[in-house]
Amino acid sequence: MYSIQQIKEMLGCRAIMHTNNIIKHLSTDSRRISFPHESLFFALHTANRDGHNFVEDVYQLGVRNFIVEKNYTANLPGANVLFVDNTLDALQKIAAQHRQSFRYPVIGITGSNGKTIVKEWLYTLLSEDYDIVRSPRSYNSQIGVPLSVWEMNSENDLAIIEAGISKKEEMDKLEKIIYPTIGILTNIGEAHENNFSSKKEKLSEKLRLFRQCRIVFAHTDDALASTMLAETLTCEIFSIGTKASCTLRVKEIKQQDSFTEIALVYQNACFKIHIPFTDDASLHNALMCIAVALNFGLPVGKIIERILLLQPVEMRMQVLPGINNCIFINDSYSFDLQSLSIALDFLSKQPLTKTVILSDIPDAADSDYTAVTEMLKARHINRFIAIGQEWQSRKNIVQDALNLTTFYTSAKDFTNHFNSQAYANEAILIKGARSFLFETIVPLFEKKIHSTFLEVNLSAIAHNLKAYKENLSAGTRLMAMVKAFGYGSGSLEVASLLQYNHVDYLTVAYTDEAVELRDAGIHLPVMIMNIDDDEDAFQKIVTYNLEPEIYSFKILDSFISFLRREGLQQYPVHIKIDTGMHRLGFEKQDIGRITAILNAGREVVIKSVFSHLVASEDEQEDAFTAQQAALLNECADLIQQNTGYTFLRHISNSAGIIQHPELQMDMVRLGIGLYGIDSTNNKKLLLEPAIALKTTIAQIRHLKANESVGYNRKGILQRDSVIATIRIGYADGFKRKMSNGTGAVFINGKLAPVVGIVCMDMTMVDITGIDNVHEGDVVEIFGSNLPIEKLASWCETNTYEILTGIGRRVKRVYVED
Ligand SMILES: *Cc1c(COP(=O)(O)O)cnc(C)c1O
Repeated sequence: MYSIQQIKEMLGCRAIMHTNNIIKHLSTDSRRISFPHESLFFALHTANRDGHNFVEDVYQLGVRNFIVEKNYTANLPGANVLFVDNTLDALQKIAAQHRQSFRYPVIGITGSNGKTIVKEWLYTLLSEDYDIVRSPRSYNSQIGVPLSVWEMNSENDLAIIEAGISKKEEMDKLEKIIYPTIGILTNIGEAHENNFSSKKEKLSEKLRLFRQCRIVFAHTDDALASTMLAETLTCEIFSIGTKASCTLRVKEIKQQDSFTEIALVYQNACFKIHIPFTDDASLHNALMCIAVALNFGLPVGKIIERILLLQPVEMRMQVLPGINNCIFINDSYSFDLQSLSIALDFLSKQPLTKTVILSDIPDAADSDYTAVTEMLKARHINRFIAIGQEWQSRKNIVQDALNLTTFYTSAKDFTNHFNSQAYANEAILIKGARSFLFETIVPLFEKKIHSTFLEVNLSAIAHNLKAYKENLSAGTRLMAMVKAFGYGSGSLEVASLLQYNHVDYLTVAYTDEAVELRDAGIHLPVMIMNIDDDEDAFQKIVTYNLEPEIYSFKILDSFISFLRREGLQQYPVHIKIDTGMHRLGFEKQDIGRITAILNAGREVVIKSVFSHLVASEDEQEDAFTAQQAALLNECADLIQQNTGYTFLRHISNSAGIIQHPELQMDMVRLGIGLYGIDSTNNKKLLLEPAIALKTTIAQIRHLKANESVGYNRKGILQRDSVIATIRIGYADGFKRKMSNGTGAVFINGKLAPVVGIVCMDMTMVDITGIDNVHEGDVVEIFGSNLPIEKLASWCETNTYEILTGIGRRVKRVYVED
């Protein structure tokens, strides 16, 4: 805990000071402020946003302590404002100084994968013997690390902090903040990573974390890792591997059905451990944890016992369809105030009544219970269900703050009194400490998905948006296309995310789509491409403050007469020019007449003049593309001359943004790229697939050679086969083109070809030779394992048609990483 005065002294900066407040929380995100009076807000510049734009909002929330950059000016009465050169540097500096006040061991973890898992598993193995502070979730970035280190306090006796980097020179900064005394290198991926020229460069950068360590743990079967560790580090290396020289030697690995038996040699003693996983990555990570535990002096018997407690680390919060139209958020990943706060933020984004179910908080003080009560109150939680003795003993305080609270002594008590009718049309967050066995109550709320679902990863969409933004020239605005139900993904959720990430404009195809967005609280400007030429549609447009695209004289005339009747002036419109698509739009020869109409009155004002590229992704057509842009500019110049004012010009779609940066003009229109689909050939951007279509297996049967499968006996089996019937058909958008082995689906690591003809609601696939497949298992139709481009090529179509062809009856499930 520091006072704002102490922080000012740490930074040695200019400040406007009022009250010497105590600072308990550092905040970099205006949406995540639970304790405004004890928070210090850092106005950070990130690729996506400038925190200075949120300072006034944060002030409104009650925050009175700010760190801003020197040239920032605002009127914040009574607030303490510290002025620095760079706010991120200030955050890091404060964290680094905080770190130096502790003498207990600090484990720093880096590597390409497995950082969070190793951290969590070490926590499971060691938390009985140590009071551990660790990075929340995957907080391992330039911002996440200082926030993690800030959590260290004098009651802890061990810290475990993750460090992740994406380019050179970042590790030096993290090293100064974490200053680890013990190092862990989880692994070093083969995959080429952005911003690193080679595996060697990547590794050498990561090893910089370990400069002050007394010991570093690493797998040394990797030759490069082994040499570079020896070359760069002078400290002790705890090596893990199959070689006789390894500190922890792996003698034998035996895979069983549900676990792996490993024979290990450590300090001349040989012992066997059962690891409750069978995949290589988990073994690798478990071995790392065993090594650290041994080095910490944990007896082998204890390690053997505790290793069985390791659980897969589920890092994404999952939103699942629940009973009675509820959605339910299962976040049993960890239970501390930080992760609770993140989960509550996620909950508050759901447009439904909100219920929270919590267990007692592990190792918590009175003040933590008060804090959680305040958090629930601040997020306007409608109903709170508290499970555990600790909550019960604070009944009066909690009930004063949150009137709709019910108390149960245990999960069993809750289950015994459970009435499913008490929950309907609400969003339910369930979060409980391990010992409370919430796994027994979660199924009460779960609606098993028996059908097909489209998984939309909102974090991936945010990532893709950022990737495109980074490729925009300074000052270019971004219009996001959310037509066709957000390219099939569900427009409300995507539009909220886009609004939150500050795109400048949204565009839909029809008026009703836009009305839905407004009803859901979207306040961004919205352009509509196809307006109906009738009074009703015009009424909606002006009521909801929507901006129509005008593409013909007929529409222009009737919209203007409507506005005149309504007495409206200066209504924003967008003029569409046909430069080669020959779909909708005015031509160059129309310009004189358009501007004459516009100049005759004041009903409309042009917000933008735009056109659409026909073949932006196709290099063969570059000349045509250039010609389209030139024609748009000629028309826009004419309009500008004749009207005497300026407006935005735009022509580029997703592919155009990257392929023709010179055509970004004042604004670009981003569509399919948001969903992680790169339609250019050069694949310059590292997009993340944001949409996955999945279904489940309804039945599995064993059939003999020569039997037939499906309608019209089209699928004749060439051999004895195992056939799975999956719950997706052409009514869901799984095209008939996929029939008879043309297409396949992804099941348990392998492709299973379609057998026979795709039915309306169902499809049969061949799973012969794919192990471990059961009825009810999830099948991927496209996603991270089976790219949508592949599916499109099987169906002889493009990814746009696949996405927008997914049936409305397919449930949309939203996840965030
Ligand atoms: C759909 C659409 C876009 C977006 O195209 P993508 O290829 O998906 O980026 C841009 N402009 C107009 C007029 C569109 O209809």
